[in-house]
Amino acid sequence: MSTYQDFGIAKQKLNNIFLGILDYGIRASEHINDLSGICPDVIDGNELNLLLYYESQVEAIYEVFNHVHMKVAVFGRTSSGKSTVVNAMLGENVLPSGIGHTTNGFLQVEGSPTGNAYLNTEGILPIQHNVESATYLAHILKNIIKPNKKKLVHVCWPKENCGLLKDDVALVDSPGIDTTPCLDEWIDGHCINADAFVLVINAESTLIDTEINFLHKVSKKLPNTNIFILINCPDESELFDQECKQKMKKNIDLLEKKLKEYTYESYSQMFFISAKEVLEFRVKVRNGLQPIIKPFSKKYWEFLDFEKQLEDCISKSALLKFFNYSMHGKYLLSEMNTIMDIINTRSEEQTHFSMSQINEIQDKFNVTEEQFENITNQNLPITATDY
Ligand code: GDP
Repeated sequence: MSTYQDFGIAKQKLNNIFLGILDYGIRASEHINDLSGICPDVIDGNELNLLLYYESQVEAIYEVFNHVHMKVAVFGRTSSGKSTVVNAMLGENVLPSGIGHTTNGFLQVEGSPTGNAYLNTEGILPIQHNVESATYLAHILKNIIKPNKKKLVHVCWPKENCGLLKDDVALVDSPGIDTTPCLDEWIDGHCINADAFVLVINAESTLIDTEINFLHKVSKKLPNTNIFILINCPDESELFDQECKQKMKKNIDLLEKKLKEYTYESYSQMFFISAKEVLEFRVKVRNGLQPIIKPFSKKYWEFLDFEKQLEDCISKSALLKFFNYSMHGKYLLSEMNTIMDIINTRSEEQTHFSMSQINEIQDKFNVTEEQFENITNQNLPITATDY
């Protein structure tokens, strides 16, 4: 089983736990309402308000984590091969790529909840465009959607043919880091919740100052973030690989040094790949054609290695987010329970209650308390010791 699937299992568990907490909150406020009708002295109005506030907090967290993906943000200069890397990971030509076609805004490819392909623009009036094919997607992106580097465009793509999308991974493609002076804004706006950054560098580049600056900015804003560097070698020959490594030696040494310096203790690795080669191979396999297999292509195996390392790294990072949500949920539940305890004690102290009324309320409380026990005793999807 892939580690990505742990994320789906944890999400489902957390989903059930939060539904349980919400149910507890609803029952508790109903209980307080009933009680205030029978005996208003027992209830303090603030307690009901506080309970409703906690309930709304639980609802808000539930909404947030249900939309959480494992997120990978892909960066690099214009034409370094970012869109090709995303497509290679998806195993399909989803995003337009090619010299001359540049990604004008941030595109997040994620699994479509409806099964159909469509684009969703963010904003006050979100617009949805149905997409029939990757070619039509390219047309919409080029001619219909106004480039806006502040807004994210969600490319919702059918999950059935793509393992990554099925497992809830979202891939963000970005405009070239060489086209903006506002890297900080980009990172804040689109990547603050990314589980990993992938920096794509064209192996033919001689200068890497922009990339070093980018690494520096990311590590300053998000210390201990996970960074993967892909050196995209555009030529297919193995001989060229060696030449390219030789030519880039000074740059690679510098990148390695900076990676160690900036990303202390986090995942940070460099891979020599050819995104196009992987993409072409996967598209052929997908279409049932016999690909020209290159069993000795080191770049192909490095790409697989990159994907494996990425999988381990982002599943852990995303599960850690769930752990934080579950801790918050536990806190809210215990606060609600404290209020219920106070009310229960107070109601027991009231002597003018008829025995039958007390028994009736006590029964209701026992049900909610039992539920609380059930929920808090459930295993959390992960434990703090995992990290
Ligand atoms: P982006 O602007 O960074 O998204 O770059 P693209 O993914 O659009 O790629 C720019 C051009 O480089 C396209 O024509 C790609 O086909 C080409 N390209 C990307 N990766 C490779 C590769 O590994 N080998 C070769 N030969 N070409 C590549």
